[in-house]
Amino acid sequence: MPQLEVYCTVSNCHFWAEGEHCTALRILITTDDVGDRYPEVVDASSARDLVRQHGHTKVEACAETCCKTFTPRGGPEPAGSPKKREAAARHLKTVF
Ligand code: SF4
Repeated sequence: MPQLEVYCTVSNCHFWAEGEHCTALRILITTDDVGDRYPEVVDASSARDLVRQHGHTKVEACAETCCKTFTPRGGPEPAGSPKKREAAARHLKTVF
């Protein structure tokens, strides 16, 4: 797996750091449409379940994509935490 540096300008995200760095270990990028359908607990650990449901999604422009890992700084639980992963699994079970 290639190592990737992610630069981001969303400074109120829990994972944002000085220098416009994203410090998350993994992030989920998806279409705005898919992003809108699921709560914030659905994140990178749910990628395969999302593909099973929606297939691989395509867009025409970057403006149609979003970072599903965004978590407001100072919010209750950062995305990807064990608690959030359990909540995502429960949510996806009710959808499938
Ligand atoms: S998780 Fe997404 S929104 Fe948050 S810093 Fe990383 S790339 Fe930016």
